[in-house]
Amino acid sequence: MDSTLIVDTPERALLRQAVGQLVGSYGHSYWADCASRRAETTELWKDLGAAGFLGVHLSAEYGGGGGTMTDLAVIIEETATQGCPLLMSVISPAICGTILDKHGSAEMKTRWLPGIADGSLKMAFAITEPDAGSNSHMVSTTAHPDGNGWRISGTKYWTSGIDKVHAVLVVVRQPEPGPNGKHPLSLFVVPTDAPGVSWTPIPSAVHEPEGQFMLFFDDVTVGPEALIGVEGQGLRQVFAGLNPERITASCISNGIARYALNKAVRYANERQVWNTPIGAHQGVSHPLAEAYIGTQVARLTAYRAAELYDLGLEAGEASNIAKFVSADSSLRTLDQAMQTHGGNGMSLEYGLADLWFIARMLKTAPVSREMVLNFVAQHSLKLPASY
Ligand SMILES: Cc1cc2nc3c(=O)[nH]c(=O)nc-3n(C[C@H](O)[C@H](O)[C@H](O)COP(=O)(O)OP(=O)(O)OC[C@H]3O[C@@H](n4cnc5c(N)ncnc54)[C@H](O)[C@@H]3O)c2cc1C
Repeated sequence: MDSTLIVDTPERALLRQAVGQLVGSYGHSYWADCASRRAETTELWKDLGAAGFLGVHLSAEYGGGGGTMTDLAVIIEETATQGCPLLMSVISPAICGTILDKHGSAEMKTRWLPGIADGSLKMAFAITEPDAGSNSHMVSTTAHPDGNGWRISGTKYWTSGIDKVHAVLVVVRQPEPGPNGKHPLSLFVVPTDAPGVSWTPIPSAVHEPEGQFMLFFDDVTVGPEALIGVEGQGLRQVFAGLNPERITASCISNGIARYALNKAVRYANERQVWNTPIGAHQGVSHPLAEAYIGTQVARLTAYRAAELYDLGLEAGEASNIAKFVSADSSLRTLDQAMQTHGGNGMSLEYGLADLWFIARMLKTAPVSREMVLNFVAQHSLKLPASY
């Protein structure tokens, strides 16, 4: 499938090619092997970091590349296009890296950003709780002031990859409600080896190297150096990471779609059931052509959102639209690629079936399609909220 887009500058086309070559040398079988063992993609992650790909969008002063969200979007899409969709690339560099870059103290940036950029450090992101998913205002993990610092207690849910990271960016509430009756939120960086931090796996159908966990904070003591930005301003600060999260999650969806389509086209050209390759039957070629159109449209929405973000313009609507369109389109494309493979679509050997749940998951996380529709209904169309 054609990798170029009208937004690709010559430099971006070279970036795309370089990422494709690096990740292509690992390929889907490497990712699938790590995923089946829930093992880290250590070698690939190290190479991506060494090439400057993980921190491309972070400040050069703190070890980043001083580039843009569009550069990171290209890198994450191209990585998934090689059959290696890395959820951790959305979490550690795109969400955590961006929030720290925008709101962290100089000391905090010096401590974490160079490692996030070169891949030697990874950070998980914990906002979801058993009773607070779509509604972040319900977060009940609490930071109780304690002398110079805080004691954090509570439970997080679906924290991807917590067993493989050095720290977690955690969203907590203050014990006392503010004047509007809601508890102000704050953000902390907590090392995963801090006393009182523990986790237990959530058995999940999603085939991915990261793994999913319930995360417990049992009276975890943190000092002032752990607070990101301003106490009680967590909701505003977390927004710094939400558009990058949606944009790069879209790129994972679109990369999976391109990977699946590439495989389907190859198979449709080779597989002969009667006296012609199956791709000659319009029952096979038209759905693939439609999947190609859907994928290209989805990619445009993702790059449009990244471009708005890079220009410092309002990117909320565009990022939500990209997330919505890309997740749906990717799942349809993967489904069609599996259909094109007949029974082999279900065989792990053909490297499609194991991507099903990661593509499906992107309809629900990091933000569900219903919450995107709520955003568009309320903010773009100015319709009243139901909640
Ligand atoms: C594989 C995986 C990895 C994840 N990784 C992370 C991570 O690293 N860190 C993290 O913090 N979280 C993570 N999550 C959590 C994810 O962000 C949440 O699952 C997601 O935000 C949905 O929240 P929920 O599961 O609580 O669903 P709920 O909020 O309980 O919603 C249930 C259903 O109701 C719908 N719904 C709810 N409210 C409304 C409404 N007002 N209008 C219409 N529909 C509504 C939702 O769209 C959804 O379909 C992950 C989840 C998965 C599955």
